[in-house]
Amino acid sequence: MIKYRTKNVSIFQSVLYKTTSLVIQTDECILVVDPNLLPDEVLEIRQHVDKIKEDKPIYLIFTHSDWDHIVGFGAFQDATVIAHEVFDSKENKEEILNQILQFDDQYYLDRNYPILYPSVDIPVHEDGQVLQIGKTKLTFYKAEGHTDDGIFVVVEPLGIWIAGDYLSDVEFPFINDNSKNYEKTIGKTDRILGSHIINLLVPGHGTATNIKEEIIFRKVLSYRYIQELRNAINDKLDHEFLIQGYKYKHDQIGSHLENAALIKKELQTDSQQIQKR
Ligand SMILES: [Zn+2]
Repeated sequence: MIKYRTKNVSIFQSVLYKTTSLVIQTDECILVVDPNLLPDEVLEIRQHVDKIKEDKPIYLIFTHSDWDHIVGFGAFQDATVIAHEVFDSKENKEEILNQILQFDDQYYLDRNYPILYPSVDIPVHEDGQVLQIGKTKLTFYKAEGHTDDGIFVVVEPLGIWIAGDYLSDVEFPFINDNSKNYEKTIGKTDRILGSHIINLLVPGHGTATNIKEEIIFRKVLSYRYIQELRNAINDKLDHEFLIQGYKYKHDQIGSHLENAALIKKELQTDSQQIQKR
């Protein structure tokens, strides 16, 4: 499963949806991000953590509450959980857990740990919030738009940007929350690149990159997608070509059409508000 490995960083990639899990070891702690997805894959990550852990505390970061990202929580109940404040107060926790149970039933999967919704020990309230663990410094940013409970995390001094379901090379924006929030989130790219030395960007699906221009390129592509989709819907033009370049477009077309429906609704709400004024 390991796709990338240095002395401090291991990136695991699931065979499903190229979903990434990240394990970072520093002098003071072990950071685990979104351990997922199949039972054996979660087990492999847990075993890796047990091997390197020594007596260090484990911090478990969830980039957001989508089922494929929280599926491994039950195997890491000894960890301190970090996530967006909204992650903790979600009203549809039961629904998210049901998506996991449904998935496991569909493929007759057994797990050697319970399926649970994580409760948050350290909630992220605001951009720039810092958690200092010895020499390890975590800086958090809210990352809303894909969901309403996403976060970016920058780990220093290693210079790792944990991006969750943004800035992927295999997915166009999946906008389940709000397109304006999505634009605001990717708009934080410049601030993050300007105020941290980033050596590695790790998206929730796809390939990590250590090239700054690639990060900026992914940001621009996300912007373009949202803006062109909005324009096309406004002008009642075809927009399926916008995902033409994506390798897995035959499945992702569903997400594209959901984006289109969401943006259409946003545009209608906007024009109603303008009429009221
Ligand atoms: Zn995801």
